[in-house]
Amino acid sequence: MLFASFRRSLPKRGARILGCVAGAMLLAGAPFARPAAPSEAQPGGLDTKRAGLGQRCPAVDIGRLPPLKAKAMEEARVAVCTTFASDEFARRLKGASLRLTCTDQKPIGGPELLYLLKSRIPDYWVIAGKPWRAEAATNPATRRIKIRNLRFDQWNAGGPDRSAMINTLAHEWTHLILDEQGNGLIEDAGHDSRTCADGELVSYRIGDLAEAVWSAGNER
Ligand SMILES: [Zn+2]
Repeated sequence: MLFASFRRSLPKRGARILGCVAGAMLLAGAPFARPAAPSEAQPGGLDTKRAGLGQRCPAVDIGRLPPLKAKAMEEARVAVCTTFASDEFARRLKGASLRLTCTDQKPIGGPELLYLLKSRIPDYWVIAGKPWRAEAATNPATRRIKIRNLRFDQWNAGGPDRSAMINTLAHEWTHLILDEQGNGLIEDAGHDSRTCADGELVSYRIGDLAEAVWSAGNER
């Protein structure tokens, strides 16, 4: 019930600049074909069950990735879902009060944010490549995430550097969440400025938190 009322209270917003630095470039470029939406009957697989009550793990279309990158993305997807579902992630997010965008005045609290992360991230698709002035970029309208090749290489090399992909993927997933008008809810245009520090923003905080929690659980 709490969450039902929260859904109704999601802020309304019009078309705006996308969050990631390269997002506007994506919109300005040629439109990308919308991927076939993975079936609801084929959610994230075993991790959906492991993730706990109410969690929906987004599926990923990896059809445009070469085999090694596709494998990396599938593994990282499960790792981020598992991290979001962990008690430690919930504990560390609980007291948070963050900004959805640099222009939002009303903060979102940790429990409400956790609900969004566990239930409102749609299925998506991924291509590899370096977005302009960014590690990755997301277009919430097409649900396409572009991630630089280095992140896949770091994942496939194994070891602690895998955490960079966790951070990037968790960050980009936040940009997939839509408001009730179908626009991106969580953005970071104008970030890293005097009036909008990265640590106050949902996208950056969630990326950093996912990385920290994942790393703590994967110490060697
Ligand atoms: Zn971003």
